[in-house]
Amino acid sequence: VQTQAVQAVNGVKIPQLGFGVYKITKEAEFQTAISEAIRLGYRHFDTARIYGNEAALGREIRNSLIPREDFFITSKVWNTDHGYKATKKAFEQTCKKLNVDYLDMYLIHFASPHYIETWKAMEELYLEGKIKVIGVANFEIQHLEELMKHAKIPPMINQIETHPEFPQNELHDYLKEHRILHEAWGPLGQGNKALLEHPELKGIAEHHHKTVAQVILRWHLERGIILIPKSSNPKRIKENSEIFDFELTGDDMEKISQLNTGRRYSIHPTGYI
Ligand code: NAD
Repeated sequence: VQTQAVQAVNGVKIPQLGFGVYKITKEAEFQTAISEAIRLGYRHFDTARIYGNEAALGREIRNSLIPREDFFITSKVWNTDHGYKATKKAFEQTCKKLNVDYLDMYLIHFASPHYIETWKAMEELYLEGKIKVIGVANFEIQHLEELMKHAKIPPMINQIETHPEFPQNELHDYLKEHRILHEAWGPLGQGNKALLEHPELKGIAEHHHKTVAQVILRWHLERGIILIPKSSNPKRIKENSEIFDFELTGDDMEKISQLNTGRRYSIHPTGYI
């Protein structure tokens, strides 16, 4: 895994390729996947309180014997922990589970009510040096506007569903304009079969002697997006990291942009609020 990084507005470097741990729940599977990812050089891990595997991730990081500072760890505030006090408490619990004394990134998982008060707690934790990068996930333009009206420190990143069928062009441009980083969740369309077998993508992949998954991940990289693909299969974990030795042409990028149907594979984020 290469260490290509993207800088947040405050200068903190975020490894552009990370590893998402959502739905890796079985202990043995988790251990194999994460230890293999670390062995291959992944250092950026994305978890959340609601995933229920913060403690397991903390254990693997510790067991690796690699210094804590070499990792980039993200977690998220769950919907039921919104509000000033609750967020402070949730942050403490997350750090305890992960067995760390700071987080590299902490995100509001969804724009649930009271996210303004939640943000206030996060700003304080940031100013105390306990979080290096603060941001949000699943925020639409109207949520960002509302947050920025009240914030002392604007959000530095927004983690949103993004894949070739749903490239988020409008939000992408808005984020860029406001110097907010774009991070893709579900970068492989959550394993959507039709996407991973799309003839257009297959053609591009064959041309570069790469797989469709690698072409999709490379497309994110070239858009300047941070990506956190998930896999518990060691072969795929390796495959997903081998995306720094080729480049897509302008023509490839154009062809992929034609796959935009505006279709989310997951439900609209407001459905979770
Ligand atoms: P993903 O796009 O990373 O897809 C993962 C699935 O794709 C795997 O389960 C597997 O079936 C398939 N896959 C992986 N590598 C492959 C390969 N090389 N070839 C073929 N198929 C492959 O979807 P995801 O796990 O939902 O998203 C990634 C991460 O984003 C999560 O683990 C989590 O950390 C984060 N996430 C955040 C939110 C949020 O609301 N903020 C929501 C969903 C996910």
